[in-house]
Amino acid sequence: MKIAILPGDGIGTEIIAEAVKVLKALDLTFEMETAPVGGAAYAAHGHPLPEATLELAKAADAVLFGAVGDFQYDKLERALRPEQAILGLRKELGLFANFRPAICYEELTHASSLKPELVAGLDILIIRELTGDIYFGQPRGRRTAVDGHFPGAEEAFDTMRYSRPEIERIAHVAFQAARKRGRKVLSVDKANVLETFQFWRDVVTEVHQAYPDVQLEHMYVDNAAMQLVKAPKNIDVLVTGNMFGDILSDEAAMLTGSIGMLPSASLNEKNQGLYEPSHGSAPDIAGKGIANPLATILSAAMMLRYSLGQPEAADRIERAVKKVLASGLRTVDIYSEGTKKVGTVEMGDAVVAAL
Ligand code: NAD
Repeated sequence: MKIAILPGDGIGTEIIAEAVKVLKALDLTFEMETAPVGGAAYAAHGHPLPEATLELAKAADAVLFGAVGDFQYDKLERALRPEQAILGLRKELGLFANFRPAICYEELTHASSLKPELVAGLDILIIRELTGDIYFGQPRGRRTAVDGHFPGAEEAFDTMRYSRPEIERIAHVAFQAARKRGRKVLSVDKANVLETFQFWRDVVTEVHQAYPDVQLEHMYVDNAAMQLVKAPKNIDVLVTGNMFGDILSDEAAMLTGSIGMLPSASLNEKNQGLYEPSHGSAPDIAGKGIANPLATILSAAMMLRYSLGQPEAADRIERAVKKVLASGLRTVDIYSEGTKKVGTVEMGDAVVAAL
């Protein structure tokens, strides 16, 4: 099992160190190799995704990724900004399925902005298509309008598009994931207005024929945004396109109250994956030793489950995290009165001890 370790910037190095510590505490043998990515790679090699880093990622079964980005790089031309490393990895590895679980741990219910009874025990899996939609559709650009409300005016445009195979493969991923959980898929679209998403709905319905044991429901994205804050516990697996998934997965993340707790995975057709916390590089707290490493540790658990074929080890890590939370240890982002505040390293040590 070969893992590419890409810590990145800001708190990336601190949280990755804890996840690596947890992996090493398992009774499994991994080949782990570390490489720079993001701003750190730009500073050292002039590019956020150097060739050697990309080659390492391609050769690995999975990539464990910290976070990238720092305000000092915001003025660089777009192609050299740290965030381009993630887009480059997604493209080069063909990562098309993004898994974003939103789990509300019992001990952290108070951290949600919703009433405890709405979120206690929440366990949603959002599956976002990552390679298509309006984010990548061509043509796009700026031009002089020839029609519309203001012919002759300067305008900008993007193209929303999805092909049948793109929708089919993400639908299969969603139905198969649902089989391992609550056997319910909610497909979110805007079929009432957009041709692309009427097609999405039609293709998802066709793919569903092969999964009679899974319940399928369709919902418009505006209603889904409401249901996520009204009755989120009714949702098991939510599958949607790139743009709607981008927005809804952040909304769902907030239901749980802490971005420091949320892992994510992006998979390709060979189950090779990139695993990273849902949060960014948090430059405001970098170097202080207070970042929450649990999202990264839980990302490592997802890596064991989805790319490395070690579901028992994944369960062990998730149980250890629950145990640590139950024991009352909290990093600053999830701290509340009556619990014990700990730093990044102490939290990692506690998970290892609980293992
Ligand atoms: P952020 O997620 O880095 O931080 C948002 C807030 O959450 C900050 O107050 C931060 O301190 C806190 N936070 C985040 N992770 C935490 C953790 N593990 N423990 C405790 N607190 C935590 O988002 P931002 O501030 O908007 O962006 C900072 C940088 O990260 C930017 O350069 C941005 O482009 C980049 N970014 C990278 C990724 C990624 O690498 N996938 C994702 C989002 C943002």
